[in-house]
Order: sequence, then C-alpha cells, then structure tokens
Amino acid sequence: MQITTDLPGALPPGLPDPATAAQLEALALDLRAAGLPLLRSRGELESLAADGFVYSPVLQPLLCGLRAQIGVRVTSAAEVLQVAAACGRHRVSLTVRGAATGNYGQCIPLAGGLLLETSGLNRLREVDASSGVFTAEPGIVLAELDRQLLSHGREQRLLPSTVRTASLGGYVAGGSGGIGSLRWGFLRDPGHLLGVEMVTVEPEPRLLQLDARAARPLNHAYGTNGIFTALTMASAPAVAWRQWVLEFEDWSAALAAAQQLAASALELKALCLLEAAVAARLPWPQGCPAASGAAHRVLLLAAPDATPALESWVLELGGRLSWSAPQGQSRGIPLRELTWNHTTLHVRSQEPGWTYLQLLLPQPEAPALEALRQRWGEDLLWHLEAVRSQGRQRFACLPLVRWRGASALQELIDQARDLGCLLFNPHVISVEDGGLGVVDADQVEAKRAYDPAGLMNPGKLRGWI
Ligand SMILES: Cc1cc2nc3c(=O)[nH]c(=O)nc-3n(C[C@H](O)[C@H](O)[C@H](O)COP(=O)(O)OP(=O)(O)OC[C@H]3O[C@@H](n4cnc5c(N)ncnc54)[C@H](O)[C@@H]3O)c2cc1C
Repeated sequence: MQITTDLPGALPPGLPDPATAAQLEALALDLRAAGLPLLRSRGELESLAADGFVYSPVLQPLLCGLRAQIGVRVTSAAEVLQVAAACGRHRVSLTVRGAATGNYGQCIPLAGGLLLETSGLNRLREVDASSGVFTAEPGIVLAELDRQLLSHGREQRLLPSTVRTASLGGYVAGGSGGIGSLRWGFLRDPGHLLGVEMVTVEPEPRLLQLDARAARPLNHAYGTNGIFTALTMASAPAVAWRQWVLEFEDWSAALAAAQQLAASALELKALCLLEAAVAARLPWPQGCPAASGAAHRVLLLAAPDATPALESWVLELGGRLSWSAPQGQSRGIPLRELTWNHTTLHVRSQEPGWTYLQLLLPQPEAPALEALRQRWGEDLLWHLEAVRSQGRQRFACLPLVRWRGASALQELIDQARDLGCLLFNPHVISVEDGGLGVVDADQVEAKRAYDPAGLMNPGKLRGWI
C-alpha cells in the first residue's frame, strides 16, 4: 500500500493516552519489586528525551518536550522480561532507547509511558571462529563491538558515522547503512542480520529466538514490534583502513573520479564526495590541510594495498592527494566523522540555519544534480556517498539544505522525486515515511504477534495505526 510522505504538521492520530498516576504507581511497584533501578526525576527523564531530530526544523516543534513518564535501566534479558511483563500487565506503552543518536525521533516516546534504557545490556556473547558470525547484546556501543571483534580478526561490515556512540540494537532498529555501504549495501539487505533473541510485550512475555527470515520484520522497525536482547550478525575480515583526502578543482572531474573509484577493484570501506562549500565548513584531522573553499574533496577509507594505485591514479583523474594516514593513528577528528550525517552535524554546529535531505540519486547523477543546483543555487550543497543498492553501484546523497520553511522543503522534495531521486525523508516520524512510503505487511504482522496490545513505541508504525 502506497502512503503519503508529506511533511508532518502534527503528531500521528490515534496515540494512546499517557499512563495515569495509578498505572505508573502500579508499574513502579512491580519494577521495584524486581530490583530494577528506576529513573523518575524530571532531570533524568529530560536528559533521555532528545536525539538527532533536532537537525529537522520540521520535527523540532513536534517532538521537543516529549518525554517518558518513567525510565528503567536493564542489564539482562531476564530484566527485560520483567519490564515487558509489567508494561503488558498495566498497559503502559514502552519505548526502547539505545544511544539516542537516531535522526527521526525514533526513541522519543510520543505518548509518554516507559523508556527502556539498554546501555547496560552490552556483552559480545560469541564469535564463531570459522565464519566470523557474532552474537552481541543490543546496548553494546559499535566502536566497542569493533574493538572486541578485532581480537578475532573481524570487523563489522556496516557502521554509522556515529560508531563511537551508537548502539548495535539502535543501529539495526533505527539505522540503515553508512560506512561500508559502498561494499555491503544496507542493513536490511539479506545476509547481514542472521537472527535475533527478542522479548515480546504482553502480560506473560516470551523470550524468542528468531532466525534470519523471522527476524527480517524487526529490522528497521524502530522498536515497534519486539525488544532485541541479542543480535546475530555477519562480519567481515578486519582491515587496517587508511584514510585519504583527495582534492579536485573541477566538480565534474570530482564526480567522475568518485564514480570511477567506486567502480574500481580497490578495496574501499567508504567514499564520500563533498563539494568545496561543504568541505570548507568542516573540521579536519590534525595534519590534514584545512579546506580552502576552492576545491572539492573526495574522502576514502581504503585497504593498505590500494596505496600504490591511488597515488598514481589520482593525478590521472584530475585531482591531487591532500592527506593520508592510517585510521586510528591520526589525531583530532577521524575522517569517518566527516561522512554521512556527521557532515550535517558539523555544519549545523556553526550555522544552525542548515538542515538536510537524504536520497538515492538517479543514474547518471550529473543531470539531476545540475537541475537541482539551478533551482536552489547556494541553498543546496552537495554531499554524496558511494553505496551499493540492490547490487548496483550508486550514490546516496545527503545534501545540506538552507532552511527556507516547510513549503520550500516540500518543493525541493517534489522536484528531486520528479528528477528520479529516491527520497528517504528525514523530516518525518514513521518507519514507512522515512523509507519508501510503503507499509510492510510483515512488520505489522510481527507487531500483532509480539506486541498485541500495541504498546511499543506508539505512533511510529503507520501500518499499525
Ligand atoms: C551525526 C549523525 C550521523 C549519523 N550517521 C548515520 C549513518 O551513517 N548511518 C545510519 O544508518 N544512521 C546514521 N545516523 C543515525 C543513528 O546514529 C544510527 O542509526 C544509530 O545507529 C542509532 O543507534 P542508537 O543506539 O543511537 O539508537 P537509538 O536512537 O537509541 O534508537 C533507534 C531506534 O532503535 C530502537 N531500539 C533501540 N534499541 C532497541 C532494542 N534493543 N530493541 C528494539 N528496538 C530498539 C529505538 O526504539 C529507536 O526506535 C546518524 C545520526 C547522527 C546524529
């Protein structure tokens, strides 16, 4: 079923009422009896009530001030079962929180209720020595997970640029791709998530083990249809990635170089193209020359064996080498924190009047980029990321957009769609609107099976509403 993806002017309809004082007291009594630490003070609950939605001037007025009525910290699947049972019994809504770096208010409860804080559920349980398949708990921070995987000679295939803060559970339930998407596509592509351990939300909750097929509807469902307590995922052999910054005076040469590099046999983990005006607004690693504002920059994470080819090829491609250093050995900001939505973060920290969009560019890319540039001029700045989409090398784009109001943003979205771009709108609230705008019947069916009273993260799954 196709649904509208217009910018929201209000919270979704049909939200449950917040819990009453009596419901909250009964819930708190149960949780205390189970020995769980509660978060009840205004300060504690406020500090848990923000994520990357602040990058969207559309979502800001809708989500600011929304918060849970009670919070609880868990450290084991057994504790999650206790919380799910208490919410199920007292019919209090439940929203799971990883590290709250999502961009759409994914872990912001729209109707109060309980916030389940998972940072203590954070063990790497197992790594299979022969396949590299690992099982880890959802609250583990991705950088810590990578650090532990490294001792097994492995690394995660995909990472968000928030790798230093984001959790595994939040990434799978709320993220989509990022560093590694150039080679490994997106998190929902079959083959990444191989199984989950999860808890249902009902008066007598179940702890279930789902295989890859059964886990699929919970992948990128914003925690609306089950609580992960462990995730089993494929990994990749660890590589000592090297960071590269290449410069190009000419935009067409930079775009052509990005296309050729992404399609080459070089082993790359990331390729990001920033137009000069974006590069000039970013902080750079220590030792890397600041961007002059005249040159466009291509950022790469490349395997060590790419070095000789890159050094000679860059000149042929019409560019020059600006800087290179092994990842993890340079000082200051790592290069990966200038990619994906970190670009928006840095620019907004200096100039909060910017926001952004997310889209997959049509091929060839240049005509759409040119048509949009002609209409929007300096109000639209290009930031491209090489990705593999459905097996094909493509460019995702997170352009910076100067905020000129909701109707200008809607006009830009409409024009981009008319030009063949696939929009992943970051100014919306529901799972479907942030994706292809289509209800996934399997996600709704999983909610019916695992959250029959509709208590999980209410308002976020349009298909349920
Ligand atoms: C600067 C910046 C850069 C970013 N770059 C990227 C990027 O490169 N790629 C990308 O995909 N995203 C990116 N994001 C978005 C976000 O950082 C990632 O998706 C991140 O992995 C989310 O993890 P988290 O722990 O913060 O999740 P949270 O924001 O805490 O939660 C996200 C969703 O997951 C649900 N959830 C959390 N834990 C569980 C659980 N145990 N069971 C069920 N549901 C759960 C929550 O309820 C929520 O709906 C970026 C965001 C920012 C602000």
